[in-house]
Amino acid sequence: MDKDIRRTVISDIFADPAKYVGKTVDVKGWVRTRRGNKNVQFVALNDGSTIKNLQIVFDLQQFSEEELRPITTGSSIHVQGLLIESQGKGQSVEVQAQSLEIYGTAPVESYPLQKKGHSMEFLRDIAHLRPRTNTFSAVLRIRHALAFAIHKFFNDKGFYYFHTPLITASDAEGAGAQFQVTTLNLEELPKTEDGKIDYSQDFFGKMASLTVSGQLEGELGATALGAIYTFGPTFRAENSNTPRHLSEFWMIEPEMAFYEIEDNMDLAEEFIKFCINYALEHCADDIAFLAEHFDKELPERLKFVVENDFVRLPYTEGIKILEESGKKFEFPVYWGVDLASEHERYLVEEHFHKPVILTDYPKEIKAFYMKQNDDGKTVRAMDVLFPKIGEIIGGSQREENYDKLKNRIDELGLTGMDWYLDTRRFGTVPHSGFGLGFERLLLFVSGMQNIRDVIPFPRYPKNCEF
Ligand code: ATP
Ligand code: MG
Repeated sequence: MDKDIRRTVISDIFADPAKYVGKTVDVKGWVRTRRGNKNVQFVALNDGSTIKNLQIVFDLQQFSEEELRPITTGSSIHVQGLLIESQGKGQSVEVQAQSLEIYGTAPVESYPLQKKGHSMEFLRDIAHLRPRTNTFSAVLRIRHALAFAIHKFFNDKGFYYFHTPLITASDAEGAGAQFQVTTLNLEELPKTEDGKIDYSQDFFGKMASLTVSGQLEGELGATALGAIYTFGPTFRAENSNTPRHLSEFWMIEPEMAFYEIEDNMDLAEEFIKFCINYALEHCADDIAFLAEHFDKELPERLKFVVENDFVRLPYTEGIKILEESGKKFEFPVYWGVDLASEHERYLVEEHFHKPVILTDYPKEIKAFYMKQNDDGKTVRAMDVLFPKIGEIIGGSQREENYDKLKNRIDELGLTGMDWYLDTRRFGTVPHSGFGLGFERLLLFVSGMQNIRDVIPFPRYPKNCEF
């Protein structure tokens, strides 16, 4: 090995092969496959920087079979060699190996990831190794690109990244069941005189939980900084064993002062189109790989969302369309029902053939903070519904009127909300916001079927491995 040659990242080679042809490159990575004959052996090498493997050619006049034997699927190697234009089909360039260092072997008998395709279920059981597969490396690169795109979008628009707490004592977030945070000895819980658990002895001196949404605190930021967004982990102890729910997921929650519901819808639409465009532009190879192996229509579906205006429709009209559809749904449709994903998908996939933003939902099925309409029955909510996913964004204009908000809080018997009500008590302004589930966006962009396959270490009921 020539110590003076620096490592070449494989994606850099494929980005501009001409720059490297005729030069010595130094590549390090994991072996995907090895094949060949008595004269020559071909190794497909991947270093995680791209879905594309670099072909390494070993001439058996220079390397002995003995030397190459440890090179099996999953082993890690370091190669220096000459980059040349490839004679074979399927790749533009290849490396003629000059020296080889083996970092680590991966014995065929015990390495779980072999060349043949594995089921998603099997890979979930070995989630600690699945980033080494083509599929998961593609998904994880897209995940990174989208996280970056989200920060870019908001930063370019002058939004501030605002950090809301993960541990919260507010039980009124209302978005889902919470995980409790405690240091009390569960075997021997301290009790008060009337037999209840004495939380004054708990770590925070009161009951605390993991956040189900950063929105309420986000509003405090927006009504001071103008426009903020949060982007962080969110926890919901809902026993939803669906392909769209995780117990730990990441949420993006922009919150904007002086935004009415129309501005909110414009932002949501622009935001999601920006993200998808960003992925199409920066993750073309990974999207093409996932399309080829899982979902042929993926590129079309992505372009379709970017190129079409979203339909904007009041809930009441949505219900009418569903009732008149003549379609047999599993769950009944009537005014006041919380739409199930089959209803949402009917509107998007069968009726409009476009993403739909449904607005003005019945107040009973929506959160207490949403702005009340004059009809006394509906609130200024907006859910963005997507093909294959159903709800991808949930948001609303917030109630800025102190009395109306206070009444609703009292009606629902919520307590401990004084800090939140202060935003309406002092210098209240119209404002709006929404929440996008990061993994729902990733499901859509990657074409994967199950939300457990778009996060490195999924948490769901009865599963908390690694
Ligand atoms: P759903 O009806 O699908 O459970 P929700 O109404 O509970 O969604 P919100 O409280 O509005 O959702 O949360 C905002 C966004 O967070 C949703 O639009 C969705 O993208 C995402 N989301 C909600 N719950 C989960 C979950 N358990 N796992 C992953 N993403 C989620
Ligand atoms: Mg929910």
